[in-house]
Amino acid sequence: MKKRAKRNAKIVATIGPASSSREVIRELIIAGLNVARLNFSHGTHEEHSKVLKIIREEAVKLGAHIAVLQDLCGPKIRITALKDGEIYLEEGSTVELRHALNSEQGDKTKLFIEIFDPSKVVKVGEKVLLADGRITLLAEKITAEAVICKVTGSGILRSKAGISVPESDLSLPCLTEKDKIDIKWGMQNDIDYVALSFVGSQEDLRQTREEMSKYGKPLPLVAKIERAKALDDVSSIIKNSDAVMVARGDLGVDLPLERVPGAQRFIISSANFEGTPVITATQMLMSMVEQIRPTRAEVSDVVTAIRDGTDAVMLSEETAVGKHPVLAIKVLSDIVCEAEREIRIESGKLNLRHSDRANVSDAICYAACNAAEKISATAILACTESGLTAKLMAKYRPNQPLYGATSQKKSLARMALFWGVEPIYIELDKDAGIESEIREAMLAIRDNYDSKPGSRVVVTAGLRTKSTGSTNVMEIREIPRSS
Ligand code: PEP
Repeated sequence: MKKRAKRNAKIVATIGPASSSREVIRELIIAGLNVARLNFSHGTHEEHSKVLKIIREEAVKLGAHIAVLQDLCGPKIRITALKDGEIYLEEGSTVELRHALNSEQGDKTKLFIEIFDPSKVVKVGEKVLLADGRITLLAEKITAEAVICKVTGSGILRSKAGISVPESDLSLPCLTEKDKIDIKWGMQNDIDYVALSFVGSQEDLRQTREEMSKYGKPLPLVAKIERAKALDDVSSIIKNSDAVMVARGDLGVDLPLERVPGAQRFIISSANFEGTPVITATQMLMSMVEQIRPTRAEVSDVVTAIRDGTDAVMLSEETAVGKHPVLAIKVLSDIVCEAEREIRIESGKLNLRHSDRANVSDAICYAACNAAEKISATAILACTESGLTAKLMAKYRPNQPLYGATSQKKSLARMALFWGVEPIYIELDKDAGIESEIREAMLAIRDNYDSKPGSRVVVTAGLRTKSTGSTNVMEIREIPRSS
């Protein structure tokens, strides 16, 4: 028998060498994965296609609805591959930075940089940050071909790690030529979400949708907030995206680290206000790349993101290259469940946010969540084609289990990202209409999720009149006693 997950916030996990086998992907789904992230900063199209096929196949076998998120590389500057895969850069040692002309491989003494020539940009005395700022260098001398740096903060450096020069002015376009090629792959492979890196303004989102529209209907777009500049325009970025990500790795390079928690809180509350799903990403359980237990500080960090109101939490290296990818998901899931249990006990009431979208569907969702609380409903059922009603409902953070029923296979996977939403598939019967859809969904809740016959469910649906075309009805029904 299917059981609804006890957790409301969703888990996004990056698939990489440690997790791309069929066995591990299956285990990740069983452990609670909701959204699989394919990181296009790494890997070839052939490798991503293989992983995508496995995710889709295993999700079907397990009866799970898993969204696939294609994370575009964007203008992230990286070092090329290292001869030994990874190296230790020791404090006080000297390392040269050079422009990679032919994908040369680096080592402890020389690092090669993609996209730009450091000797033309970096000046003596400027800071250079590697691997999301975990390793720091200081530029000491500039020659015609290289920047000679001293290592001021040591650490392990892996192939293709990010490099940034926060004190230099590098105005790079948000959508790169590589992103355009990758977008074509995403469109052709029916990906559920595309994440755009280094978004600076809503104009970047518009250009990306325009690029997608060359191949069909644009896919839902996740704006990664990782530039300080994006914080000035966060409200319009959120309004123009389907979801946002607090990309703390690069954000913590562009902003002083101590400002990242405040920025996280600001982005999450702004996204919550709009009812736009928000993913909190990076270093949530970083020590689990090696260890079987997270640190106390990491556990607190996850709980803070849940308290801030995030819709989803994300793992990167933990599942992509870590030693314990499945365990990392289990641990994350347990932390989230406990945080949510505590929050429920503390608040004990419905979070009726300001109804900021003055439209019919939002008013119905608001009323549905209120009604569910008043009658202590056993569940809320949102009959939805696109998944939008389920997303609007999630905005109010209802205490009751929330089901999103749809006949559209694409919407099922997309709803996997939405806070608290359990997607349900119902067969579309054009002749029987909405009445039969509601009945089918109610039977699914009873039979697959263990809801008691006779208990009350708040149902929303659309009468699909041409004038409204979306959710416009709320009713309270009982779970059927007979089939
Ligand atoms: C981040 O910077 O936090 C992030 C999620 O982006 P990426 O992993 O692509 O650097």
